[in-house]
Amino acid sequence: MPDSTSRPPVPFLDLKAQQARIATDLRRRLDAVLAHCQFVLGPEVAELEEALARFCGAAHCVSVSSGTDALQIAMMAEGIGLGDAVFLPAFTYTATAEVPLVLGATPVFVDVDPRTFQLDPAHLEARIAAVRAAGRLRPRMLIGVDLFGQPADWTALQAIAAREGLVSLDDCAQSFGASLHGARLGVQADVTATSFFPSKPLGAYGDGGALFTESAERAALFRSLRTHGEGTSRYEVLRTGMNGRLDTLQAAVLLSKLTVFEEELAARERIARVYDSRLGNAVAIPARVPDSVSAWAIYAILLPDAAARTRMQDGLKAAGVPSAIYYPKALHQQPAYAHAHDGAALPVSEDLATRIMALPIHPDLTDRDVERICDAVLANV
Ligand SMILES: *Cc1c(COP(=O)(O)O)cnc(C)c1O
Repeated sequence: MPDSTSRPPVPFLDLKAQQARIATDLRRRLDAVLAHCQFVLGPEVAELEEALARFCGAAHCVSVSSGTDALQIAMMAEGIGLGDAVFLPAFTYTATAEVPLVLGATPVFVDVDPRTFQLDPAHLEARIAAVRAAGRLRPRMLIGVDLFGQPADWTALQAIAAREGLVSLDDCAQSFGASLHGARLGVQADVTATSFFPSKPLGAYGDGGALFTESAERAALFRSLRTHGEGTSRYEVLRTGMNGRLDTLQAAVLLSKLTVFEEELAARERIARVYDSRLGNAVAIPARVPDSVSAWAIYAILLPDAAARTRMQDGLKAAGVPSAIYYPKALHQQPAYAHAHDGAALPVSEDLATRIMALPIHPDLTDRDVERICDAVLANV
């Protein structure tokens, strides 16, 4: 059914509206960088790192060039490589699995919870036991992904990491700003990596990322690795590193966006509650992780099957409501990663890929936009 009033479509993400809200402060920040011309590791970079560490209560923040590079630097710091097993969810963005492979390590895919979509701790334990029994790979690291804005079950994951002697890495790319048991994400794992890709809850105007840790040694290693493995003087090379720094201009953008970030998180939560109450009886809404606050990067609903999802997406499109599929395939089903998979069954991840669908959720949706989205979903179930 075409939208009878032929209003323009609802934006899936509205970075222009957000830019208008912070225009004056943003301009002041960018002008300051253009005036001092320290485009790499300028003063805004250290200022941002301090502000981000304070924001999430972490002892150390090291900004980097992207979320993917944050994951890579975290793994390089632990010497992850050939023969190492890195446990990670099969249902996540590609970058989580890509980095261990780039470093020569083996991703071991773990299934997720069918209601919260987060890594399933019981399956993780079974997968670690199976890898140990096979004796071919050394279990070294587990990556918990805080999928769609909600935290993974860090209480369970940290207990498993401690028991199994694994380094824990929190892939918080979608969930910076979320909290668990009253603490913001950033302090739950040995290392937390996040992304400032423009569409993430806290997004730059280009690529960016950051690492958080309580360990001063790890933080120093991250700083060295992001600048070619440099030592105390610039031309002393201590280790193989990379060019992985955050641009000063992006730090300036992020400092400006940080001034409205709390309000934006509150706006996303308000919208999620409207979706919960209006749609909860008609479609499967995302189950909340207990004692947590989501950053609501993505609001994902589940349809009964693939055909129902196609009908819903087509119906929404006709009503001017965009939707998206995160993710149409589990990672072990991707051509690039199939060879790395040991063949273990991952039924929940495979099922979610056929039925999941994301609705727009961003702080600049108006109440009328949200009503329109809900009406369109209800008209198409
Ligand atoms: C976006 C994302 C990344 C990668 O972040 P980039 O900044 O785009 O490199 C990693 N993991 C997850 C789960 C993501 O959603």
